[in-house]
Amino acid sequence: MQSRNYKKSEKYFDISKEYIPGGVNSPVRAARAVHRDPVFIKSGLGSKIFDVDGNEYIDYVCSWGPAILGHAHPYVLEKVKKALKKGLSFGAPTKKEYILAEMINEAMPVMEQVRLVNSGTEATMSAIRLARGYTNKDLILKFTGCYHGHSDGLLVKAGSGVLTEAISSSGGVPNDYAKNTVVADFNDRESVKALFDKYNDKIAAVIVEPVAANMGVIPPKDGFLEFLREITKKNNALLIFDEVITGFRLAKGGACEYFGIKPDLITVGKIVGGGMPLAAYGGKKEIMAKISPLGDVYQAGTLSGNPIATTAGIATLEVLFQNPEIYAHIDENARLLADGIEKIMNEGEKKVHINRVGSLVSIFFTSKNVECYEDVLSCDLDKYASYYSFLRENGIYVAPSQFEALFISNAHRMNDIISTLDVIAEFGGKE
Ligand code: PMP
Repeated sequence: MQSRNYKKSEKYFDISKEYIPGGVNSPVRAARAVHRDPVFIKSGLGSKIFDVDGNEYIDYVCSWGPAILGHAHPYVLEKVKKALKKGLSFGAPTKKEYILAEMINEAMPVMEQVRLVNSGTEATMSAIRLARGYTNKDLILKFTGCYHGHSDGLLVKAGSGVLTEAISSSGGVPNDYAKNTVVADFNDRESVKALFDKYNDKIAAVIVEPVAANMGVIPPKDGFLEFLREITKKNNALLIFDEVITGFRLAKGGACEYFGIKPDLITVGKIVGGGMPLAAYGGKKEIMAKISPLGDVYQAGTLSGNPIATTAGIATLEVLFQNPEIYAHIDENARLLADGIEKIMNEGEKKVHINRVGSLVSIFFTSKNVECYEDVLSCDLDKYASYYSFLRENGIYVAPSQFEALFISNAHRMNDIISTLDVIAEFGGKE
């Protein structure tokens, strides 16, 4: 079966590399971690995507999360088509902005007020500025391996130990700036306590992915999120749930509903924009009142609340809200896939570890349990690369990196799962 032709993708990539750094507009797309060149996508429909050379794939990237209804959902497309005729952007308020804000509030009551922005990066960056402005403190506590977009202060990981000063993990971010971010280990309460002890009353907020999904999927240990809620409250720091991935995916009310925790601020993205550039942050009215034009924390956007993006977001949330059984369906398909992979790959000896929370799945090429960033580092990246290539050659599109989630959409059907497991069985047999 391994005779796929990528001629057009190769040509387009060559031209792209001439004009776009690395040929891509977001680094992971380049597939360098798996030693491949990317395929260029022409279209998507339901659970499938099609590349420019006519190859078909069952898609488990789902645009990195937004495509929870599958690609080109007819209801969403119809609404967007109607909206297109009325104009693309006005830079003045429209009714759809409050309709979407109301829907977000209905799903996540913590978000009494919502500010719409254009990307997850903007949402977390703005939520952090707000937390600093509201608490009058400077430090932000984040977790190693959690990703919150590419704003300067969040591109930071721990140095040699969690109590050493944070250093930036990107060029172009001054270490002086990065010093305002301190880093603890996900699922490690002691590392959080130590930072609160050390920095006393200086921490403005703890920002966390309630389910870590950017080092592969790692569920929070029992009580970890509750612990974060308590320690932030005790220290007058805000708790920010970055639900850019989990929001509207784990449940209508995201991780807050799934785990029954009320943070102070929430960021959402991906699904909330239905595939268009839209994200949001929000929280209690009292906190949101610090945002301009009411308060002194500045945040703005020419295209914020864009009419086409809000249309796609509203239509997507409408489908989800009107069909709550979707969550049971995607979770069940994810369970079948995860259990199937476990059975195929670990027959005899444990070759992979699988984590799943709802419809988020990761297959880690390690025999260890994966509960924190350090565990992730034990993965065999070459194995992942051959797994990626084998799957792609056989029509299954997964993330070109070990450190990403696999997303299930409502358009995935049992036959997609069975076909995928057949290919993985073939790969497992070769190993
Ligand atoms: N937060 C989380 C949890 C994310 O997964 C991402 C992106 N994958 C972001 C923030 C940044 O979102 P964006 O890429 O839209 O800027």
